[in-house]
Formats: sequence, C-alpha cells, structure tokens
Amino acid sequence: MPLEAYRKKRNFAKTPEPPGRISPGRGQHRPVFVVQKHDATHLHYDFRLEIRGVLVSWAVPKGPSMSPAERRLAIRTEDHPLEYAEFEGLIPEGEYGAGTVMVWDRGTYQSKREDPTDRQLADGTIDIMLHGERLRGGFALVLTRMRASGRRGQEQWLLIKERDAHADPAWNIESPRFERSILSGRTLDEIALGKSVKLSVASTRT
Ligand code: MN
Repeated sequence: MPLEAYRKKRNFAKTPEPPGRISPGRGQHRPVFVVQKHDATHLHYDFRLEIRGVLVSWAVPKGPSMSPAERRLAIRTEDHPLEYAEFEGLIPEGEYGAGTVMVWDRGTYQSKREDPTDRQLADGTIDIMLHGERLRGGFALVLTRMRASGRRGQEQWLLIKERDAHADPAWNIESPRFERSILSGRTLDEIALGKSVKLSVASTRT
C-alpha cells in the first residue's frame, strides 16, 4: 500500500511532518523533485522524485553533486507523500528521523527516455533532466545492489551527474552559497530555532 511504510514510522501527533495524501493522476503536470538537507543522527540529503503520486526517496549521505566524476551513494528509503516537498522544520527528539529538515533544492524534472519513470524505477536505471535552482541538467540513478536476504531489501543506487553544459567539476555542496533553504532562506540553525519567515509556498506545478 502506498505510503504505508512512511506512516508506520511516524506519530503524526508528535511530528510536524505531513501525514500525506496520495494524489495520482493529477492530469498533465511536470513531476516535481526535491532535495532536503536533513540534520539527523548523521547529516545527509534526501533526494525525492515524484513518481505515480508519491515522492520516491533516497538518502544520499554526501548529497548530490554537479560533478560527473562524483558518483553518490543513494540508499532507497520509504516513499513520501507529495506534500513532503514543502516540508521544512524540526522533527522532535525521539521521533523517526529526529532533526532539522531544510528544503535544499526543488523544481521539476523530465524523463530523458520514452518508458515511464515507474518502469525505469523497477528496471533500476532512471534517466532524468532536473530543472531546479541548484541542480540542473541530466542525471542518472542506477541500482547497484540489493541487500541479500529474505527481508525487504535495502536498495543501493548511485546518483550520477551526466556530462552536459550544466556539469561542474569544481562543484562543492559545502560552499556557503548552498547553506540556506531555497524555500525560506533560512539556515539549518534558523530552522531548528523555529525562526519564522514568510514561506514562499508557491507550487512548482503549473
Ligand atoms: Mn532523511
């Protein structure tokens, strides 16, 4: 069942995260992607792509890179609701994923192939073009291995920038120019302190 794993892990009386709806088939719109910087037990980035009415998600320990030479490990995690693309805030101590979440990049994407992205996901190779503020151009996600065992496997993927005009070999995610939310302009510390700002929640959807 879609979002079952997402909901099971969370107590919505305690976390500010959205319980979420499943909204498939909202007509023709460019699907969205979001990258959230998540200061949890270990600082990481969550990369999410809208596919079939949910945000298919990967935890990327080192974050995405605009350098084609950097292949970034991306561990598949549970699907998140579409509303999560606008979630920024502090998940309280003791709750799943406790820590601060920042919307680090957001935008729309296009498939670079004819076959639908849910098929690409199932086949283990996704080829897309990102139209974000920080991430742009062609990217590939490639399934490298599944954790062996009878349990529901943890999929390991690689997130790879393609060589194109947007590629930047010198790109560094730790640059000060990337330290603020593209949604609210806040730093992780400001989000954690609950510093309020006028959120620009304009939909990326047209
Ligand atoms: Mn996370």
